[in-house]
Amino acid sequence: MPATKNAKIALVTGVGKTPEISHMELPKLEPNAMLAEIQAATLCGTDIHLLHSAAKAMPYIPGHESCGIIVEKSGDRFDVTGEPLEIGDRVIWAYPFCGECFYCAVANQPTMCPNALRFGREPVAVYPHLLGGCATHQYVPPRSAVIRVPAGVSSELAASASCALRTIMHGFERLGRVPGHGIAVIQGTGPVGLYALAVAKSRGFKKVLAVGAPASRVAVAKDWGADATLNIDETPVRADRVKWVMDQTGGIGADVVIQCAGSAAVSEGIDMVRAGGRYLSIGEGGTDKDIAITPRAMSVKMLNIIGVRSGAGRHFYEALQFLKDGKFPFKDLISGTYALDKVADAFDGMKSMREVKAAILPNS
Ligand SMILES: [Zn+2]
Ligand SMILES: [Zn+2]
Repeated sequence: MPATKNAKIALVTGVGKTPEISHMELPKLEPNAMLAEIQAATLCGTDIHLLHSAAKAMPYIPGHESCGIIVEKSGDRFDVTGEPLEIGDRVIWAYPFCGECFYCAVANQPTMCPNALRFGREPVAVYPHLLGGCATHQYVPPRSAVIRVPAGVSSELAASASCALRTIMHGFERLGRVPGHGIAVIQGTGPVGLYALAVAKSRGFKKVLAVGAPASRVAVAKDWGADATLNIDETPVRADRVKWVMDQTGGIGADVVIQCAGSAAVSEGIDMVRAGGRYLSIGEGGTDKDIAITPRAMSVKMLNIIGVRSGAGRHFYEALQFLKDGKFPFKDLISGTYALDKVADAFDGMKSMREVKAAILPNS
């Protein structure tokens, strides 16, 4: 049983309002649910986007990237490898998919499940209430796939694996085979772009190019092994950036371009792909404006455009294994840590891009 009957929570009470601190009683567990004491909750661009989006029931507990220690469980639970879960295990967990809808049961694309709960945005008034990471405790629903965190992986990084990195693992699965002579371009040098760069390097591309900003993040991309980098602050004209990719690829274009920079980058990225190449679009933030793609790009240029949303249990597992291998200085991504009382400062840091990735440590 947890040591306390109450959770301390951050609460967003209105559109655009910074989170404030509140308290609520711990919920009673339904069969096969668990309760986790949060070790770290990391923030990403989505949290800032949600804060400013009116399409949610307020108030809600923010935070969809969490790592916690199991402090209570109802019935037997197992991790994704079939090992029993025990009180005291340090874990991350996926959104619970219903398992019974068309997307779960027929299409085998559970991340499209319309019945899933999505952490960090569900109304706090509705049971089981504690569905955001910016709190001392978070509810682990019965249908969530649960993944144990390897000993060498910090809680902050494990939390970040439960969003950016698991989506990248899902994206690479959908991308398919990577030829050893292939050249990849990563659009974006934020946390998603840097993780994508690391995965692309490890999947055997001959050359990985990174396009991003600001200079400090481009420098990290270089450190992590980008074969060439382009700072978009220094190359503000789109045509010049596309030309740079052409110059880097013998005038052909990249075999694979991976968008980790938000939807505004899509049209430019498509211009960077070679004829017959693939475009993997991961970043979802930014403008919802339509982009123009000529019919020739789809047919004569024979482009393969691949989207990806979220991830299932196996992608979380792959993400943690990748972090455990520790081939890249991943800790560079966590730029600041905050106590729960300072959650508003953490949101400000993310909004102003002062932080690459902020981590809330609610029980520190
Ligand atoms: Zn996220
Ligand atoms: Zn479903």
